[in-house]
Amino acid sequence: MSVLALGDGLYEVESASDHTYLVDLEAGRCTCPDYVFRKARCKHIRRVAIEITHGRTPPPGEIAVACHDCGETAFVDEDASGPFYCEAHELHAGDAVRDRETGDRLTVVDVSDLRADAVTIGGSDTTVADYATNKDYDPDVPVVGAVYPHATVATNGVVPGSLKVYVFPRTRLEKAT
Ligand SMILES: [Zn+2]
Ligand SMILES: [Zn+2]
Repeated sequence: MSVLALGDGLYEVESASDHTYLVDLEAGRCTCPDYVFRKARCKHIRRVAIEITHGRTPPPGEIAVACHDCGETAFVDEDASGPFYCEAHELHAGDAVRDRETGDRLTVVDVSDLRADAVTIGGSDTTVADYATNKDYDPDVPVVGAVYPHATVATNGVVPGSLKVYVFPRTRLEKAT
């Protein structure tokens, strides 16, 4: 049996006999004869629950998305907007990153939820998205603040006053290993 999450707590289950049934997990309902005519907690509902328990399908309220950097599947809130990252490629304050444009290594100090086309660069009218070297990166992605050179930054994001923070579109940076 294969399970496909459709969102809104609904799952499509394809049975071994090639029948496709619809499961509403939270309501505990299925469109198969076992459920419809015998009101049994059928094998399709059980299968959806098992797939969720094993992390192979997202729970109600979440959808499966592909990591922007590696393509691996991650589960995120149904209403979340991309780009999405798996646990390994998600950025946090203190992480080392590589600038895809220059190859420079930096340290992340802040991951914002503000978009690159909504944040202006220090005192100017130019947004991060409009900045010349950022033209090739999506304007609707969040911005990330980072410092040169690779310096030790506490994971709580505290930055010594002497360090200048540069702001990048999220997709311009990749996690350094
Ligand atoms: Zn069923
Ligand atoms: Zn990834």
